Amino acid sequence: MSACLFCRIAAREIPTKLVYEDEQVVAFDDINPQAPVHVLIIPRKHFVSAADAQQADATLLGHLMLVGNRLAREKGVADSGYRFVINTGQHGGQSVFHLHLHLLGGRAMHWPPG
Ligand code: 5GP
Ligand code: ZN
Repeated sequence: MSACLFCRIAAREIPTKLVYEDEQVVAFDDINPQAPVHVLIIPRKHFVSAADAQQADATLLGHLMLVGNRLAREKGVADSGYRFVINTGQHGGQSVFHLHLHLLGGRAMHWPPG
């Protein structure tokens, strides 16, 4: 059994409602949403962070973003706009060390980010 929380969610070892899944990625609502729409899109493959990705992963990373776009449409925020976030490492504010793309929408975002 993996010790990684998001690997365990992807493997259905921790019951979590998936809002999207395919052979490469899964997506689920954030447990502590920071916006009306807050979805996490993760690769099934374990990466500690975005910094762990290699050239061979380019297609997978692109797919992650396209799934994010699809979910933004399905969640009704495609027209109003949304934000993708990938927190990376300590200063990036990463708290779960399995690469994940945040999809945030349903309210106006601030800039610069905190
Ligand atoms: P990070 O801070 O690493 O960029 O984002 C991790 C995100 O995972 C946080 O927004 C946090 O709320 C979310 N999270 C942590 N544990 C769980 C969990 O068990 N289930 C779900 N759905 N989200 C989680
Ligand atoms: Zn993992």
